[in-house]
Amino acid sequence: MSSTIPSLERARALRAEASRPNRAEIEAAIRTIIRGVGEDPERDGLIETPSRVARALEEAFAGYAQDPVEFLKKTFEETGGYDEMIALRGIRFESHCEHHMAPITGQAWVAYVPSGRIVGISKLARVVEVYAKRLQVQERLTVQIANAIDVVLKPQGVGVVIKATHHCMTARGVRKPGSDLVTSRMLGCFRDNPATRQEFLALAV
Ligand SMILES: [Zn+2]
Repeated sequence: MSSTIPSLERARALRAEASRPNRAEIEAAIRTIIRGVGEDPERDGLIETPSRVARALEEAFAGYAQDPVEFLKKTFEETGGYDEMIALRGIRFESHCEHHMAPITGQAWVAYVPSGRIVGISKLARVVEVYAKRLQVQERLTVQIANAIDVVLKPQGVGVVIKATHHCMTARGVRKPGSDLVTSRMLGCFRDNPATRQEFLALAV
């Protein structure tokens, strides 16, 4: 079962890549949106807007071109026998919800208990960054971060907590500014050992 999921994802990625529009097509689509809101895309102030928006989109969704499994593979084994929790706290990120393409802004807490191998701490932040720079739901973002660390590092356990604000519900729709959504994923000793889970949650909240 687990081997069919990556191959389905790969097939979907290949299909998306084959039908991917070029930059000129993307800019034409943005000019259509500008006309759609009742504006003139040829007006001086708007003439460069399609290329600016296209560049901003490339930046916002740069995560599709990167695979965290690749950069997590570079691990260190000279840990001096360190076997306690390693936690990177309050990693700020910006993502976009896949239902409205509206910003999701928040922070992630990522922790693991190693079993022999550790990873450079900046890599923990990069895992968050790569999955955030895709169209997301927060639940899946949480799971993807934890699973990538679990699959590559094979630690004793992984914990991920994400707190984020969804602009699709704070700035539009039901308009509830100030609310945030908290999600978590606990694997291995974070799931099985209440003391480990508590230690992590005490760091996170
Ligand atoms: Zn949304």
